[in-house]
Amino acid sequence: MGWQSGIVRQNQRHSERLCTLKIAAPLPGFTAGQFVRIGLPVDGKVLARPYSLVNAPSQAELEIYFNIVPEGPLSPKLFELQPGSEVMVGAPTGFLVVDEVPDVPCLWMMATGTGIGPFLSILQTDAPWQRFEHVVLCFSVRTQEELTYQRLIADLCSAHPDQFHFLAYVTREPMPNALSERIPQTIANGVLEDRVGVPITPENSHVMMCGNSNMIADVSAQLELRNMVRHRRREPGHYTMEKYH
Ligand code: NAP
Repeated sequence: MGWQSGIVRQNQRHSERLCTLKIAAPLPGFTAGQFVRIGLPVDGKVLARPYSLVNAPSQAELEIYFNIVPEGPLSPKLFELQPGSEVMVGAPTGFLVVDEVPDVPCLWMMATGTGIGPFLSILQTDAPWQRFEHVVLCFSVRTQEELTYQRLIADLCSAHPDQFHFLAYVTREPMPNALSERIPQTIANGVLEDRVGVPITPENSHVMMCGNSNMIADVSAQLELRNMVRHRRREPGHYTMEKYH
């Protein structure tokens, strides 16, 4: 599939630097957790970057969630797009999908910032609820304002009260009921497992990570201490990842 033309339907600003775009585009279908390239014509070429899809595959409009990189060539332009604007959309791809996860009782999803996107897509499908006894979502942001998509997450909590565990991490200002340490610290000190009531072991867990590459490195190091190894198609393991920056 080459570039498809998409039309922006909605530009939702969450803060001065966070934005959701909804886009109508004739995509052939995708698997929850995958990303597409989104592009704009710049100087006669298509300037494009990968963005995870937040919507479930069953939903008609594509949705991307991103932060503005002030000095970047593309995100400031995407940030300004209004309904009716045209964007280019590439083919969906990526392996941060539940089909890749071995059968275990507990699926852990750990995200920083806009890395929450692919997990929201997965959580809006039936697969995680049919396959796992426990589904845990850890969402780490700097400030309360950046703790976005809370209505969707509250709906998931209501729909799956015994199965779904949501933990908010707000690391640069106090917030009631949120954890204030980083995700890897709460693995190291046992706080995360205490909150969820399930241990993180090679036998019972698979961990998906998305977002800041330092978070991914630090969580991976914690998991390796527990004899958990990176999952590869030919060698099934215990954690998978997608780096955002
Ligand atoms: P971020 O800096 O990755 O922060 C998101 C969350 O990830 C925070 O809770 C942060 O904790 C945590 N984190 C960072 N390193 C980690 C590690 N090694 N292990 C575990 N957790 C870790 O991402 P972001 O806030 O989405 O920002 C993305 C980009 O935007 C960055 O390049 C940033 O510099 C920039 N930014 C700009 C503004 C602004 O202009 N107003 C504001 C925020 C970010 P900590 O708080 O402890 O680092």
